[in-house]
Amino acid sequence: MKQIAAVVLAAGASTRFGECKQLLDWHGKPLLAHVTDVALEAGLQPVVPVLGCKATETLAVLGDRPVRTLMNWRWEEGLATSVQTGLTGVPPEADAALFLQCDQPLVTAGLLRAILRRFDQTGSPIVHPTHAGRRGTPVLFARRFFAELSAITGDHGGRTLIDRYPDQVATVPVSDPELLADMDTPHDYRRLQEASAKRVHGDNQSRIAVLQDIRHLIVDMDGVLWRGDKAMAGLKRFFAFLRRREMPFVLATNNSTSTPDQYVNKLARFGVRVSVETILTSALASAATLADIAPSGSRVYVIGEEGVRQALRDQGFNLNGEEADYVVVGWDRDLSWEKLATASLLIYGGAGFLGTNPDVTFPTERGPLPGNGALLAALEASTGVEPLVTGKPEPRMYEEALRRMDATPDTTAMIGDRLDTDIAGAWRAGLRTILVLSGISQQDDLASSQVKPDVVCADIEELVATWEQLDR
Ligand SMILES: [Mg+2]
Repeated sequence: MKQIAAVVLAAGASTRFGECKQLLDWHGKPLLAHVTDVALEAGLQPVVPVLGCKATETLAVLGDRPVRTLMNWRWEEGLATSVQTGLTGVPPEADAALFLQCDQPLVTAGLLRAILRRFDQTGSPIVHPTHAGRRGTPVLFARRFFAELSAITGDHGGRTLIDRYPDQVATVPVSDPELLADMDTPHDYRRLQEASAKRVHGDNQSRIAVLQDIRHLIVDMDGVLWRGDKAMAGLKRFFAFLRRREMPFVLATNNSTSTPDQYVNKLARFGVRVSVETILTSALASAATLADIAPSGSRVYVIGEEGVRQALRDQGFNLNGEEADYVVVGWDRDLSWEKLATASLLIYGGAGFLGTNPDVTFPTERGPLPGNGALLAALEASTGVEPLVTGKPEPRMYEEALRRMDATPDTTAMIGDRLDTDIAGAWRAGLRTILVLSGISQQDDLASSQVKPDVVCADIEELVATWEQLDR
């Protein structure tokens, strides 16, 4: 993974605008704080704000953000002095620096990540967004251009280098001009404020920049494709889109109670036909994990329903007898004291302890009920042994899904409704991440979450409508 720094150019006096733009209010935050937060959210490291005009006030708005703030005392001599100052704050281990202007408030973390990915994929030392063939900012420069950048004078910034090396440039096309718009006048400011207020779930353009690179999909089911026995809006359209694009997919669930056939049948009732090979449950992943460590025919004591039982039988395990060498625990709606007691004694006596998935709750119409993670916690408390868990966010499910599709993480996206499992695990596995707000995680959770998905949509219907724009 490459390390990319952000230089936030915030030293100028905004003479054309009439007041210091860095301090303008942007939905409750000073603009400088907003732009800095976008850079932090995109994972840029370090973030280097360069201050000059109104240094004391602008410094104060950064608060205790984890940034490397620098002062450019020569800011009146032009933008180039801020670029030079910013470069002194980029550490030697950084591969490149992305230069952000303080007056492009609609630039999103998603667009910044699309620029970083383009740099990663193409190796081009200069990357910038374009709209309708016209060059836009922010611009990324690789380290080998730092010396030349430092030598530029006046107000031209990096434009000179882009003109000098046209064949070294990679671009990220965006079709929405507002995304790259800057504010030269108070009128621009009001217009962009209105435009941004309409963008609840992130802008379309940065979504499209992410979606256009995706070739394979891992899709969670509960909360994404259906809620209980009700199909989500857009379900058939979503699968029709995948077929039209010939996009391979794996439907991956942490729920271990049902068998792949039962999921195929459930989708058939909703009018969607999928093959049984596209279904991956945490029960299958657990059985495969156990097959890696235990000889075929090993005796296994199971807490769980038909999904996990069948998966273990299919791997050749012996589910009879209580003198087992392994205990596998999946969600079990017939859980009893006797089952817990048997499992506990076996684990305490040295049997291997596996859990299908870590979800502590299971959402129902009645509210959140104890999930498999709660059963595992009970057994962990009584035995002092930690289970080997295979469901999301652990890597095993993602690895198995990638293997089935013969896919690599960089072209694969996970669509899920839970930040703590679907999205966190996919992010760690290096996949692109798409959160739908039709299940567990909501907009409020996003604000407090460390993990930020690449794309956020209300549901699969909105997602597919966005994606279809690429076909036009
Ligand atoms: Mg789900």
